[in-house]
Amino acid sequence: MRLPKIDNLEITEVSEDILLVHQTDPLFFFSCCDGLLILPKKKRNNSTISLDLNIEQKYVNSLNNIYGPVSDHICSHGHLDHICHVHVWEDIGANIHAPHPESNYLLNLHNFYQGFGFNEELDFNIVEEFAILNGYQGCNRINAFNPGETLKFDDYNIHTISFPGHSKAHVGYFLPDEKIFHISCLGFDKPKPEIKGFGPWYGFKEASISQCIKDIKKAEKIFIQKAKFLTSSHSYVVKNPDLSPFEYMRNKIRNNQVKVDRALKFHSLKESSENKIVKKLLKMDLFFPKKKLKGAVFEVYRFWESWIIRKHLHRSEFFRNMQEN
Ligand SMILES: [Zn+2]
Repeated sequence: MRLPKIDNLEITEVSEDILLVHQTDPLFFFSCCDGLLILPKKKRNNSTISLDLNIEQKYVNSLNNIYGPVSDHICSHGHLDHICHVHVWEDIGANIHAPHPESNYLLNLHNFYQGFGFNEELDFNIVEEFAILNGYQGCNRINAFNPGETLKFDDYNIHTISFPGHSKAHVGYFLPDEKIFHISCLGFDKPKPEIKGFGPWYGFKEASISQCIKDIKKAEKIFIQKAKFLTSSHSYVVKNPDLSPFEYMRNKIRNNQVKVDRALKFHSLKESSENKIVKKLLKMDLFFPKKKLKGAVFEVYRFWESWIIRKHLHRSEFFRNMQEN
């Protein structure tokens, strides 16, 4: 298929009539994610479907001019890089689908604020400022589905697969006809084979490292047994039997644990309270360089990193021994 050239969009053909789209110049670091465009095909879907493609308005318009009308957009979970531009798909007439209960986060930012526990530590206006920087606007109407449900569009079935370690409603997708497995935000975030990303993300109270590890195992099994292609929210296309994405994700989690354990040992942090230790570790910028960040951006990164650190503290043998002594 001849692919269109649109400035700042990378379009890759995954299989016949299914494209992976990536925006290269996001307004803000966390404001976009890659997704699939499922083009119309006889005996399949009559109109184009956007699978979790969260990109800015001008690019949605360009794609809609070429491949539209886009009848449906399916969001994978309620994190900002998956919800902030979804209103644009609604504006061009698409029905919006999202997993319950994070579907509510697309309707109103207060739901996002409370749902992810920002309200326990940050004022609403900080989160609001951060969300607006990313381009967030609420949608008017969302069709909620349950993680794990199969969604049907004309004669086309899309299986959603629950991967709750990252966020409780987070789903991946399996397209059985084309054997494409889109793992969404499971943690394979390498833009190119030679470039590393952050890896699995668990910077919220509700996220769970042990569940992430289970999700990675479950995804690996699905990939080995059923899929030809693996795509994700922030990476290139991987073909079966290349299992490097799973190795990469496990390694990232292991290395993050080492980072926290080393910092604990090296600085012999003997304070009894977990909160004090988290504060000290946050100052070390173990995960995010925060020195140049200011205002709302600093506060949100600090909030995320505090949860990443806490999750690793709770898994740290060294921390446990320290607490007991
Ligand atoms: Zn996410």
